Amino acid sequence: MLEDKNPQKTSLAELGEFGLINHITQYFTVKNATTKYAVGDDAAVISNQDETLVTTDLLIEGVHFDLSYMPLKHLGYKAVMVNLSDVYAMNGKATQITVSIAVSNRFPLEAIEELYAGIQLACDTYQVDLVGGDTTSSTKGMLISVTAIGTAKAEDIVYRHGAKVTDLIVVTGDLGAAYLGLQVLEREKQVFAVDPKNQPDLDNYTYLIERQLKPEVRKDVVGWLKELDVKPTAMIDISDGLSSEIMHICSQSKVGCKIYEEKLPLDPQVISACEEFELDSTMVALSGGEDYELLFTVPIADFEKMKGNPNFSIIGHITEENQGLNLVTRASQEIELKAQGWNPMKEEV
Ligand code: ADP
Ligand code: MG
Repeated sequence: MLEDKNPQKTSLAELGEFGLINHITQYFTVKNATTKYAVGDDAAVISNQDETLVTTDLLIEGVHFDLSYMPLKHLGYKAVMVNLSDVYAMNGKATQITVSIAVSNRFPLEAIEELYAGIQLACDTYQVDLVGGDTTSSTKGMLISVTAIGTAKAEDIVYRHGAKVTDLIVVTGDLGAAYLGLQVLEREKQVFAVDPKNQPDLDNYTYLIERQLKPEVRKDVVGWLKELDVKPTAMIDISDGLSSEIMHICSQSKVGCKIYEEKLPLDPQVISACEEFELDSTMVALSGGEDYELLFTVPIADFEKMKGNPNFSIIGHITEENQGLNLVTRASQEIELKAQGWNPMKEEV
């Protein structure tokens, strides 16, 4: 996991900024007809008939990622994913990205190539075009900022603020795995620091680690919703944890909710890792971050359309605002949902 796959080192200074930009962008091809001009001029040119969606995320080494267990190729891939996820959460189609990086002289060209190999794989898999960016130096560490651009017909866009009383609350995939993947990787990093010869056995955690290091985002869900002829009333992607996202939907929609503990979708690896780490799996599902699943609400009339798909879990329903946000436990007790996002939880364990 920690071996250096690129023993060759070419200094970035040798290549210069323009040499570097040319080198890393040369293998990217344009896939969308709306991309009129990509990398190479002062600005990219995009031609959209529909509405344009724009979203940005900034990732900083030591804050959002740790290169001791995050291979650069995965980092490039994930940096694109977190942005595409936001476009899909608007019920849109992602079409272009820009990528800006700041790197210190600690990184050779081969490291940047790895990063861009991940970005390119993401672009190919999700059919988006790299249309620009910026390249600069940093005194310490790496920064990577991706902007994703997408489109949607005005009438198809789904905001956070449209949830209505009695709507069903639906979540895609399963929850908590990415958080546990991070716990496993952090633990192995500690073990490695003490005894570098110790080779970790990660067989029981493959799904968890994949969810942390190589997340996929829910472009497929946007397609399924269209096929099912379902337009969610509200939607958000799960980056900070289910309870924090449900709070965004409820506060912006001015409603309350009831979530059922027994309905939370958990992978078997999540359940066994929770036992091992002595963590409450409900807590992890509610507060673990980085799942990049979609959380949405649909009118109760769409129940039949939702229930057939194994990727959709109906986890609760929307209530009046004055009812508050509640979790119904397996013992049928109602407790208030707390906003425990990613960071508070990290400090706790
Ligand atoms: P400017 O001086 O106008 O900022 P640059 O020399 O930084 O232009 O960039 C030249 C071209 O290369 C532009 O099209 C820009 O979008 C693109 N570009 C620069 N850095 C990157 C990068 N890290 N990834 C992708 N494209 C980039
Ligand atoms: Mg520039």
